[in-house]
Amino acid sequence: MFQYFLNIPLINSTFKYIAEVNNNVYLVLNLIPITYHPSPITSNLPFASRFSFSYFYAHAMTKTSLKGLTLKELEDFAISIGEKKFRGKQLFDWLYTKEASTFAEMTSISKGLHTKLASIAQINSLKLIEQQVSREDGTTKFLFELADGNRIESVLIPPRTAFQSPNASGEEEQKRLTLCVSTQVGCPLDCTFCATATMGFLRNLTVGEIVDQVLQAKKISGRRVTNLVYMGMGEPLMNYENVMKSIEIITTGMGIAARRITVSTAGWVPKIRQMGDENRKVKLAVSLHTLDDDVRTQLMPINKKFPVDELLGAVHYYYSKTKRRVTFEYILFDGLNDRHEDIERLIKLSKRIPCKVNIIPFHSIDFTHPTGFSAQLHPTPQKRMDEFVRRLREAHLTVFVRSSAGEDIDAACGQLAVKVEQRHSTGKPPVSPKPRTPNLQPV
Ligand code: SAH
Repeated sequence: MFQYFLNIPLINSTFKYIAEVNNNVYLVLNLIPITYHPSPITSNLPFASRFSFSYFYAHAMTKTSLKGLTLKELEDFAISIGEKKFRGKQLFDWLYTKEASTFAEMTSISKGLHTKLASIAQINSLKLIEQQVSREDGTTKFLFELADGNRIESVLIPPRTAFQSPNASGEEEQKRLTLCVSTQVGCPLDCTFCATATMGFLRNLTVGEIVDQVLQAKKISGRRVTNLVYMGMGEPLMNYENVMKSIEIITTGMGIAARRITVSTAGWVPKIRQMGDENRKVKLAVSLHTLDDDVRTQLMPINKKFPVDELLGAVHYYYSKTKRRVTFEYILFDGLNDRHEDIERLIKLSKRIPCKVNIIPFHSIDFTHPTGFSAQLHPTPQKRMDEFVRRLREAHLTVFVRSSAGEDIDAACGQLAVKVEQRHSTGKPPVSPKPRTPNLQPV
């Protein structure tokens, strides 16, 4: 069971043993001789007594998960295990560019190093539990299981369904394959129109879990993902460090340019400002939905913490720092935010902050059994929606209309909510998430 890892029997250096406890955990044993006295006075003493002090400690460590480490972190890891720095770059290429899921696949790395790596590190992968393909448009929803048993969803959206812009028929559009990734298990924000909110919040995803959604979607579909939207489960800016690290890995190792990546936020103000300060190259989308504070607070409790003015202040700041236009996402709710004055407010906003507007039809979340305010939300009828878009375009706003990709499999925007799985264990149909009750507590 003991695996002899480093044996440097030199005086004044550390004896280090690594023992594998199980697949994930290993025990590190360190023996540290502090001072050695090689004088004639001590030469008659037994060897051990010639040390004035030595101590020994042991600690358990989990194996280092390599998927999710950036290039710099992999280089540091290589050095920390006594290897050359360039091994870090090799690992980076194998993990992200060549998409290896085992050490054995890494043919430019010796067998000896494979064994050493396998004893102290691991490559975790998401487990595909289920895959649903929309009959209407080919949108594919993946249900993945994480190492701790939690589940998340990612959605692969085929060409010409992700957005409908006036020039959506170009060649580039045909090749576009967009993956919508999750950043948290559940979500803490409790937007009243969103299915994920019914799950509550469980935890942030790790960098590896975010990156692996892209690796697995490519592997399963056999196709190249060209665009990414951080619009799955969760609030990306509340998992800022991991989201930004995942973007660093994806843009440097997986061939998706930053300009093809959109991060969407419900309006987490401090991090919008931070993105501006750091001049992040990805696109930023803000789920605005209305410029009326009262209506927005009803729709999105986060508005109590960061009201419309504060949010727009942060977006303005972001623009002033990056000179990148923000996309405002705007779900049209019948009679709530689709009135004449809403159009006027949006036009006024576009004069203050250079922006694009992404109109999203409201996707039903009836399968979550909404109650209270959530149950009263309905999509704006098509005719009024067309009129809304037309009037914005007349005022020279850049307007996209989001399609309802994958609606038949609850894979459209905001429809991601993992149903409590009973199917696999009992053969019964899945149970829907907990029915929602309005919760307008400040976050
Ligand atoms: N938390 C982030 C990202 C996840 S939601 C955010 O709020 O932006 C991604 C997008 O889906 C957001 O614009 C959100 O407002 C929208 N959305 C949520 N529920 C929806 C629904 N039922 N119908 C249509 N769009 C929805």
